[in-house]
Amino acid sequence: MNFYLPTEIITGKDCIRQNAGLFSQLGKACLIVTGKSSAKKCGALKDVCDTLESVGIEYKVYDKITQNPLMSDCMEGGKIARECGAEFIIGIGGGSPLDAAKAIAVFATNDIDEVGLYAKKWERKPLGVVAVGTTAGTGSEVTQVAVITSSKGLKKSFRDKASFPVLAFGDATYTEFMPERVTRSTAIDALSHCIESYFCNNSNDFSRQAAKRGSKLIVNELYKIKDGVTLDFKARENLYLASLYGGIAISVTGTSFPHALGYFLTENHGIAHGSACAVYLSEFIRYNCENAKELWDEFEKSVGITASELCALIEKSVPEIEISITKEQVDELYPRWINCTCLPKMYGIADADTLQNIVIKCVLK
Ligand code: NAP
Ligand code: FE
Repeated sequence: MNFYLPTEIITGKDCIRQNAGLFSQLGKACLIVTGKSSAKKCGALKDVCDTLESVGIEYKVYDKITQNPLMSDCMEGGKIARECGAEFIIGIGGGSPLDAAKAIAVFATNDIDEVGLYAKKWERKPLGVVAVGTTAGTGSEVTQVAVITSSKGLKKSFRDKASFPVLAFGDATYTEFMPERVTRSTAIDALSHCIESYFCNNSNDFSRQAAKRGSKLIVNELYKIKDGVTLDFKARENLYLASLYGGIAISVTGTSFPHALGYFLTENHGIAHGSACAVYLSEFIRYNCENAKELWDEFEKSVGITASELCALIEKSVPEIEISITKEQVDELYPRWINCTCLPKMYGIADADTLQNIVIKCVLK
């Protein structure tokens, strides 16, 4: 078994202000990376800035990161980090600013372009990243992965041990500011991570335990979410914790076909990441009930839900999406599945045709 997680994880109300001393160990100046407005609205940016000021660390804020972060913005962020002498990067946000922070940390120390980033032609170690989570979904706080939209408009990831954040703060207070559709979509993303990871054949006992625990926590909250019940702080903490379990699970295995097949729905049809994965999640569950029956039985026993109940719950929890896709558009996708990295990790016998048939079944209504 191989399990590596170098991130110090600190959760709880007010955890940033209570741990100011930890920032001092990272350097005297940093770049803060955020999206356009949510880091300010939810109070995380103020908590970070006040804390840095209290220990005399200089900072600059780069708040240009959009959803599905663009390579060009990450390269610009890297340049700014260098110009302001940043010794570390703080990402505040959902997965988009957190992943961007990881890419900016690489560009800050390496004079490379996007090809060099994805191919990991890094001559120097990236700067250290502190991740402050404001959604309860991606688990990027505890993964070595970043998904960045390439200059060709494709969502592509890089994965490197040096990209695990050094420090992750999870104060679920911030997640209370998420609009309902973001709560739903990010909860399903976290559930998707847990389920996809569990049914990857490169999982290990650590990742499977994390996946089952994360799934159970999310399923309990999805019953409330689907009925439109207002989530209290404990529920928010449970969802946040579950997103970390999902991140820990995929840090071992990576994801499977709901993620791989979901990317084009985000790239070309503007569907939020979690909702895009949800389009295929029930099919993924059915696929593994057939092809990994023993594992499914163990999962069902631990999480306490049958496959058909889980599929129904997912379908009722995800935000409504409208997709209008033609047969020609689906056909054009086929080459993308030929060397899809999820294929060797799937149970059963799967190839590009398997994935294409799943796309047809799930998106051509
Ligand atoms: P996101 O793209 O970071 O943010 C989605 C929206 O939610 C944005 O409008 C954002 O506003 C807003 N928002 C964020 N936090 C909020 C809060 N506390 N209150 C109110 N609004 C808030 O969403 P995400 O689902 O967390 O991240 C998705 C990205 O992560 C995708 O690019 C996906 O590919 C990637 N991902 C990465 C991993 C990994 O392991 N690294 C795993 C799965 C997914 P602002 O724009 O103003 O911030
Ligand atoms: Fe995801």
